[in-house]
Amino acid sequence: MVQRITMAPQGPEFSRFVMGYWRLMDWKMSAQQLVSFIEAHLELGITTVDHADIYGGYQCEAAFGEALKLAPHLREQMEIVSKCGIAITARPENTLGHYITDSDHIIRSAEQSLKNLATDRLDLLLIHRPDPLMDADDVAEAFLALHQSGKVRHFGVSNFTPRQFTLLQSRLPFTLTTNQVEISPVHQPLLLDGTLDQLQQLRIRPMAWSCLGGGRLFNDESFRPLRDELKTVAQEVGADSIEQVVYAWILRLPSQPLPIIGSGKIERVRSAIAAQQLQLTRQQWFRIRKAALGYDVP
Ligand code: NAP
Repeated sequence: MVQRITMAPQGPEFSRFVMGYWRLMDWKMSAQQLVSFIEAHLELGITTVDHADIYGGYQCEAAFGEALKLAPHLREQMEIVSKCGIAITARPENTLGHYITDSDHIIRSAEQSLKNLATDRLDLLLIHRPDPLMDADDVAEAFLALHQSGKVRHFGVSNFTPRQFTLLQSRLPFTLTTNQVEISPVHQPLLLDGTLDQLQQLRIRPMAWSCLGGGRLFNDESFRPLRDELKTVAQEVGADSIEQVVYAWILRLPSQPLPIIGSGKIERVRSAIAAQQLQLTRQQWFRIRKAALGYDVP
């Protein structure tokens, strides 16, 4: 069973592994098949689901909502995370991709997410990407209005630098709940640039996206040495697959990230969570770091 974790000193509590729904439209599931998929990961204890307004060209939330309309009782068993702040050209009025963090846009986007997801509240709303035109007071105004109306319970950010995080936090009467960032052996900069250190300091848990490099871990030629090392470590610790070792490598970080699983195959989801039982030694952890980076620690 998947462990539970408190995201920040003021809560909320999420499942240690999160189900990511970015690729939902690629999975080609009917609403009924999606209900079965959701039931299956809930049964494993993965109760937190990750969405964004733009996923699937603005279609994923509504597809998920169709499943919830078939099985509305499932809503009470899960925590829904969504995001806003990116505009993509899937909408004709967006002549180019850009960021948009104006107060009225944040409120409108969150309300649209509620409608699409067939729910009356989001458990967590994130600003998807740092916006050079972000006015922190304006974002705070939107967060407060959404909080007061009961439409959104908690707020956070994604892909923010520590400075950007601190700026937005300085305008809020409540604690941001996460910074959702890319963490994996194939993307390690945030491990040492202060991003995870800030979250550890504040006892706020990161959410980790693209833990498997978006699938590139398995087929990119340049990751062959990493795959070889992961296979060796998998044998040493009795793991069933290299991805289990990757998840164990991420779980080992003291900031306590929540890996977001991106697979639409329930066997892979089930296999991922077995990583909770794996313990990597420091040397195994650093061998994986080295195999990914191609050089030793200084
Ligand atoms: P990921 O786990 O790195 O990649 C998932 C991809 O890897 C899927 O296409 C999956 O295909 C494939 N895969 C998994 N296991 C495999 C295996 N053993 N062999 C071959 N392919 C395999 O995660 P991600 O989808 O990139 O990201 C996870 C979630 O993070 C997203 O759903 C989204 O919620 C979130 N995210 C957030 C941001 C942000 O900016 N905040 C950015 C990106 C993603 P199958 O479906 O066939 O298994």
